[in-house]
Amino acid sequence: MKMTAREIAEACGGRLLCGDPDTVVTSVSTDSRKIDSGTLFVPIKGERTNAHTFIGATFAAGALATLTQEHDSMEDRHVWIRVQSTEQALQQIAAAYRKRFSIPFVGITGSVGKTTTKEMVALALSAGLNVMKTEGNFNSQIGLPLTMFTLDKSHQVAVVEMGMSDFGEMSRLAQIAAPDYAVVTNIGISHIEQLKTQQNIMNEKLHITDCFHKNSVLFLNGDDRLLTQLRNTAKFKIVWFGTQSWCDFRADNIRTEKASTRFTLVAPEGLYEVRLPALGIHNVTNALVGLAVAKTLGVPLEKAIAKLAEYRPLAMRQQIHRVNEVTVIDDSYNASPDAIRSSVDVLCGFHTGKRIAVLADMLELGEYSQKAHFDVGEYAAKAGIDALVTVGERAKEIVRGARSVHPELPCFPCGDNSEAITKLKSILMGGDAVLVKGSRAMKTDQIVKALL
Ligand code: ATP
Ligand code: MG
Repeated sequence: MKMTAREIAEACGGRLLCGDPDTVVTSVSTDSRKIDSGTLFVPIKGERTNAHTFIGATFAAGALATLTQEHDSMEDRHVWIRVQSTEQALQQIAAAYRKRFSIPFVGITGSVGKTTTKEMVALALSAGLNVMKTEGNFNSQIGLPLTMFTLDKSHQVAVVEMGMSDFGEMSRLAQIAAPDYAVVTNIGISHIEQLKTQQNIMNEKLHITDCFHKNSVLFLNGDDRLLTQLRNTAKFKIVWFGTQSWCDFRADNIRTEKASTRFTLVAPEGLYEVRLPALGIHNVTNALVGLAVAKTLGVPLEKAIAKLAEYRPLAMRQQIHRVNEVTVIDDSYNASPDAIRSSVDVLCGFHTGKRIAVLADMLELGEYSQKAHFDVGEYAAKAGIDALVTVGERAKEIVRGARSVHPELPCFPCGDNSEAITKLKSILMGGDAVLVKGSRAMKTDQIVKALL
């Protein structure tokens, strides 16, 4: 990116305290450890650290300019721009930068499956277009603005992940990315602690359409109970994906083969055979989004389908490993009730030995927490797992839920990851499949590492 100090100050309504207004910055960073010559440093004041204390160090590392919400006057050869809130200023600067690009923007939100869907949409589009996509999980109030600065003139389309956990957040993200096309993967109960009801979650997510224009398209999941309430709204064009007969992009005849899934895509223009190197119906849904978006943006379906056959999961998101004849499903990146259900289904698709679910606490569920854990246990037991290992206090409720269905199910509630590792090593045999999943803070990737 390239922006002058003057343009930056204008974009965020900031006041240039010192430095040359014609200074050209070529990158933006909120991380004082990631600075190069030409960076605009954006110090964020967090609960634990106030990054304003690092401003001097970022200049020493090559930064040319900084925002500040704490200094009112300054004499320095570097550029200092005074703003009310550095976070808000970052968002405004990102929005101004994004406006320089008239390429189509695809925004992706939903309770679960955002990153996976983003990857599949970007992959399908890459069959015909040069794609800018969100790296990893940079979907937040800070991650999304930073993503905007990776745009350059070579990009023909942008695919961005947009995450929210509270009221007002999606509206702000929509002002920054201004998506012309938007996807809502589903409405679950992630972040219900803050948002209280699923209806609120849906209403907030739909703010992703705030900058829609007459040619915009909203892609919605036809298998989602809440989203289907929008079937008769005529506010904008909706393209439905899923397994229902009325969906515009439908998956039919879904079959599992080793580590791949095959299905027939029933699209408005005909039938196509698709092979996806990933397991689970939820991944079929994610792939349908990729194909629907690609087709809508003019990429031929045959080419997009060929690209999806090259799909590889990101680290810790349903990566399947085999060690000593044991299958390890590493889904340790994060966990919510909806995501656990889809992963348990994948686990239960293995039939060569015991199916062992290792499930740790799910966080941020507020008053739903106890019931959500219990329900997950019930679901896993009904789905057919053969043993359950839990990690953490809240996860003990998963054991109760599972036992309410199968009183005899072998269950091992553990206090921490190392106890779970010891337990697993004592029960694992060749042919078994193990699913490892828990909220990020539970660091269940430690269990995966130990197993591998
Ligand atoms: P985050 O809120 O952490 O950004 P996310 O919405 O980006 O999460 P992913 O990281 O794509 O979600 O997927 C998390 C897990 O959710 C996956 O590993 C898988 O278990 C499950 N999952 C993925 N896609 C779906 C889907 N469409 N429906 C239900 N579960 C899904
Ligand atoms: Mg994500």
